[in-house]
Amino acid sequence: MSKQTRIGKTDLYVNQIGLGTNAIGGHNLFPNLNEDTGRKVLRTALEEGINFWDTAYIYGPERSEEIIGEVLKDTGKRKDVVLATKAAHKFVDGNVVFDNSPAFLRESVESSLKRLQTDYIDLFYIHFPDEATPKDEAVGALKELKDAGKIKAIGVSNFTFEQLKEANKDGYVDVLQSEYNLFKREAEHDLLPYTAENQISFIPYFPLASGLLGGKYNENSKFDDIRAKDPLFQGQAYSSNLQKVEELRVIANRKHAEVADIALAWYLTRHSIDVLIPGAKKPEQVTRNLKALDVDLTMDDIAEISAIFAQ
Ligand code: NAP
Repeated sequence: MSKQTRIGKTDLYVNQIGLGTNAIGGHNLFPNLNEDTGRKVLRTALEEGINFWDTAYIYGPERSEEIIGEVLKDTGKRKDVVLATKAAHKFVDGNVVFDNSPAFLRESVESSLKRLQTDYIDLFYIHFPDEATPKDEAVGALKELKDAGKIKAIGVSNFTFEQLKEANKDGYVDVLQSEYNLFKREAEHDLLPYTAENQISFIPYFPLASGLLGGKYNENSKFDDIRAKDPLFQGQAYSSNLQKVEELRVIANRKHAEVADIALAWYLTRHSIDVLIPGAKKPEQVTRNLKALDVDLTMDDIAEISAIFAQ
């Protein structure tokens, strides 16, 4: 088994390359998803020792967690995987609202446990902040679930800097999951310095910028999923982003690696980033993403990559 890394101050140890699973059963995000391919992606991850899986109630909704639960049950590998899931979305009269109330979080943990067919969740996140619940109270509810052994670590996601500080008043937050990639580096202003100073592990989502940092798109690529509305993929911004990817490719070629490997390796040089959760739609992508661990970036490489994507 490859080297295991501790996630921040938790007792969770994982391969630094994990797996984002919003494309496993995430029918509400990606049309025409094939669930059998999703199962194959998970089985490949198991074979390759990719043991940190990131899911959420809203991926599907419910289907991503359910498929993960089925695969872990069928393979008997629950204990080999560190499972992270999230909740906050609530359907009210067909509309989604966010709820961080202690009662809703407790209920959400129970229903995720059922879908995942397990009796503990390794890392449970509040997926999005609501407007009503004091953040330390919401995290306090998760602390009680942690003390009861239902969850092993506490995460928050999509919290602003102010919300994160409030959530972490008692020092209970183990992980922050926020959008961060070479194109979106706002977290460097306040979130990353705060997590580094407060022993919180920062897990970047969209690490491959939804595939843009995979290096295979061009001006003619068409998107019929969440990317159709993503500003990174629109008009002039898209052209200029493709140009930056080509500049990154020059470094990748020099290092005998792929663009995605280089991007993933660069994040792992950031303070407080312990583990990554690139998404995969095909088994080959899962295997490929492990190559990031073979990339050795020098200080000069790191500075050069930062300069290409300077903001
Ligand atoms: P991502 O990791 O930035 O991009 C994943 C996509 O990149 C894949 O679906 C695939 O798309 C492409 N890809 C993957 N490996 C590749 C490789 N080696 N070479 C070339 N292309 C490759 O985006 P994401 O999957 O949406 O985000 C990652 C995870 O973060 C999610 O799965 C989810 O678990 C989590 N997330 C959390 C939040 C939150 O609010 N907390 C929000 C979003 C996502 P194509 O095959 O289509 O190119």
